[in-house]
Amino acid sequence: MDFTFTPDEERFRADLRAFLQARLPERWSDRAFLGEVPPDEHEAVELAIRRALADRHWLAAGWPEDLGGANASVMQQAIQQDEAAYLAMPGAVNAGVQWVGPAIQMFGSAAQRDLYLPRIARGEDVWCTLYSEPGAGSDLAALQTRAVRDGDEYILNGSKIWASGAGRATHGWLAARTDPAAPKHRGISTFAVPMDTPGVSVRPLVDLDGGTDLSEVFFEDARIPARNLIGAEGRGWYQVTETLDRARSGVEAFAEGKANLERLVAAAKDESSLIAKSPNARYEIADRWIELEVGYQVAYRVPYLEAQGETPNHEANVSKLYGSELTQRIANTGMHLLGMASQVAPGSPYARLGGAFARLYTRAAAATIAGGPSEVQRNVIAQRGLGLPRS
Ligand SMILES: Cc1cc2nc3c(=O)[nH]c(=O)nc-3n(C[C@H](O)[C@H](O)[C@H](O)COP(=O)(O)OP(=O)(O)OC[C@H]3O[C@@H](n4cnc5c(N)ncnc54)[C@H](O)[C@@H]3O)c2cc1C
Repeated sequence: MDFTFTPDEERFRADLRAFLQARLPERWSDRAFLGEVPPDEHEAVELAIRRALADRHWLAAGWPEDLGGANASVMQQAIQQDEAAYLAMPGAVNAGVQWVGPAIQMFGSAAQRDLYLPRIARGEDVWCTLYSEPGAGSDLAALQTRAVRDGDEYILNGSKIWASGAGRATHGWLAARTDPAAPKHRGISTFAVPMDTPGVSVRPLVDLDGGTDLSEVFFEDARIPARNLIGAEGRGWYQVTETLDRARSGVEAFAEGKANLERLVAAAKDESSLIAKSPNARYEIADRWIELEVGYQVAYRVPYLEAQGETPNHEANVSKLYGSELTQRIANTGMHLLGMASQVAPGSPYARLGGAFARLYTRAAAATIAGGPSEVQRNVIAQRGLGLPRS
């Protein structure tokens, strides 16, 4: 493996960083980390950055030019995720660009590609993912939301949960059961659902950190045109798994972790009593730094393999597992270094880093669940990566 970036890739990184820094408000990433950005400002900046990236054909950089992309290589796309996460760019995770668009390219008709993809690349449509249900998360094939064909339409009934960004999405990428009599993996189909369809409603959920990005989505006799079926009826499970399998480097966990650890190191240097009070935190910080270095190698291995013409598989699970667990270890290290003061709310003279590490600690709990829990990642690595038998 050779992880040296080419001069072109280095140039792309420098151009992109300069582009984003010029468009993000001053002290953006620090303010975001310290919890100083109100939701309306966050939304406005997200929209402005999305438009700016789209104008430069960088929003869906990896897509072909005729679809609004810039034909960027897989390595460049990973670099883009890396830079966006390091700078805490709002909207860095974009379901439409990262997995819905690629799924429509793979499984949709020419008319569906022309209809949906340029609008995603121009930043006009924002998608959310509607897979999980109260009784179907890790065991996604158990999903019960129904789509029943009625002439030129499908009628949707059921509910989804944990849908990221559903409250702001224009479209949902839905997995629903079209044939309840078929074996459970074979009766599922995927649909494009405009979120303003009558009968579709969104109810926000409040997470541990007080955020409301996650939602429940309900379908009550919601009718969508039959042409919104993506791919063949009954093939949805295979489309979903292939989309989930699409290699994602997972580099954003390491980029965000690096920015957070740099803040912790700066705090420890500024206030020497912190280390005096928690001497072991020095070793913890050093360990986290080494783990970040390892993590970057693990993450960039995924696009590297793809660039070599190979199909990464369990390598993406290794990156996801390692990155999400490291996110939690970095949060723990911050709590250990800052001690009780890490939990004091901003505004108090005893608060350290605006209570940001306490927020990171609570937010990090979700990291090992979102996108499939750690146990599921370990199962995939054990079976597909190492060839171990199922227990
Ligand atoms: C921040 C966040 C964002 C999310 N965004 C979305 C989204 O946009 N769209 C969407 O559809 N979903 C989303 N999800 C849902 C996510 O995909 C599910 O939470 C996840 O797949 C786990 O499903 P579950 O919550 O039903 O937990 P369960 O499947 O009930 O699992 C609970 C626990 O049981 C154990 N377990 C389950 N299965 C196994 C197994 N096979 N082997 C060993 N142990 C096992 C694990 O410990 C697991 O943590 C999001 C979740 C989070 C936290």
